[in-house]
Amino acid sequence: MKKRKMYVDGKWIDSKSGEAITVFNPANYEPIAQVPRGNSEDVNDAVEAARRTFESQQWRNVKPHERGYILLEMAKRIRECKDELARLETLDVGKPLSQSYADVEAAARYFEFYGGVADKIMGETIPVEPGILDYTIREPLGVTAHIIPWNYPIQISSRSAAAAIAAGNAVVMKPAEDAPLTTLKLAEFFDELNLPNGIFNVVTGFGHEAGAALALHPDIDHVTFTGSVETGISVMQAAAKNVVPVTLELGGKSPNIVFSDCDKEKALHWIVKSIIQNAGQTCSAGSRLIIEKSIKDSFVEALVERFKNMTIGPGIEDVDIGPIISKKQFDIIQNFLSIAEREGKILVGGRRVMIPGNEKGYYVQPTIVDEVDANSPLAQEEIFGPVLTVLTFESEEEAIQMANGTKFGLVTGIWTSDVKRAHRVAERVQSGQVFINNYGAGGGIQMPFGGYKRSGFGREKGLEALRNYTQLKNIALKYSD
Ligand code: ADP
Repeated sequence: MKKRKMYVDGKWIDSKSGEAITVFNPANYEPIAQVPRGNSEDVNDAVEAARRTFESQQWRNVKPHERGYILLEMAKRIRECKDELARLETLDVGKPLSQSYADVEAAARYFEFYGGVADKIMGETIPVEPGILDYTIREPLGVTAHIIPWNYPIQISSRSAAAAIAAGNAVVMKPAEDAPLTTLKLAEFFDELNLPNGIFNVVTGFGHEAGAALALHPDIDHVTFTGSVETGISVMQAAAKNVVPVTLELGGKSPNIVFSDCDKEKALHWIVKSIIQNAGQTCSAGSRLIIEKSIKDSFVEALVERFKNMTIGPGIEDVDIGPIISKKQFDIIQNFLSIAEREGKILVGGRRVMIPGNEKGYYVQPTIVDEVDANSPLAQEEIFGPVLTVLTFESEEEAIQMANGTKFGLVTGIWTSDVKRAHRVAERVQSGQVFINNYGAGGGIQMPFGGYKRSGFGREKGLEALRNYTQLKNIALKYSD
């Protein structure tokens, strides 16, 4: 088992307390690494280093295109090491290997995208009156804190670090205790490049220790958080104490609304993918099927067939469904499955699977639950497992009401061949992203992503994310009396 260090101020260090956290392989629950158990003292050091470097002449002298160049080099390094990174992500998170490869490619693309943007972060000139030149500049915020979840570590670390550094900030990152390894790998790559010490820091540790200390730190200028609603609320409360802005990407209960005139093969393909990807442990998982009554039986029957044929096992074997990340997460899913037994009709799945040789891993059958009341927790709460809830509608209006009938609003899929209806529905759904006749097209690098309602606020990805990492200054020059 490897003992790893964390990365602060350009140095690889242990935690001040000397304590460590054991990281497990979800496939078999064997320990795979130890990482430092950072706490508030380590966070203080990282923030101090980030602040010092952010304000240094050395960092000010780095030209925007040079920042971009470092990010482009990161993309190159990630691609060169894609095999190692994908395997490490699968080892750490449990997800099927081809999904890890897709995540690694997305990570490289984030660095490329924001690398290209670094010297194009522009302001405006504003007509005020003769004799006044008024213009705006977008400045970096300073030290940005990034609290990363365990489900897509390399992608989420990359998308937020690349955007923050492109804009000229110094980053302190706290990966999840369950899956910190690929974020540490990014630190290795930054270390090899010409990035000044202190611009990218990784403090490993528990959420309630290192994470809470980071969110509450008086010398950070922004917090980007992706994770659960409850933790998002405490991060926001901590940041509020210091009047620090937050970007929160929280949970979802994203619907796929299927009309009878859709291309059924395509819809089936993407709906399956949207819920089983990463064993349903995805904020944007398509976890509710909202289907028109006239095609419900045949469509759901076809879905059941596909679910029955899914392969389940260790992610490294590139099955369809890998293990659940932890016992904690498995217990949450299990609880929903018992509710499903009581309150719904399980059409397929519903049980834990024991994989020979990997008995300690938590594997769950892909599950479809029908006959669910729209107010049941099965239709309202984020399960974060491979569990699809079926709801049926008869009119377009009813479909919209159902889609909007949860506290979340992250992603919506609409399946129809009627383009007018597609736009009507897209306009009415309360959702940060809407996909029509696809779900997740293009990998999402350029598209703003974030929530309505309790799915959070602020947008990551695309150019829009730069708003998180810059502040706007207006300058008025009076040049005539
Ligand atoms: P989960 O319960 O599935 O681990 P969380 O939303 O709690 O999801 O975790 C997402 C990230 O937030 C992780 O990096 C975790 O360590 C961190 N975290 C957990 N609790 C806190 C907290 N109180 N303050 C800041 N970060 C936290």
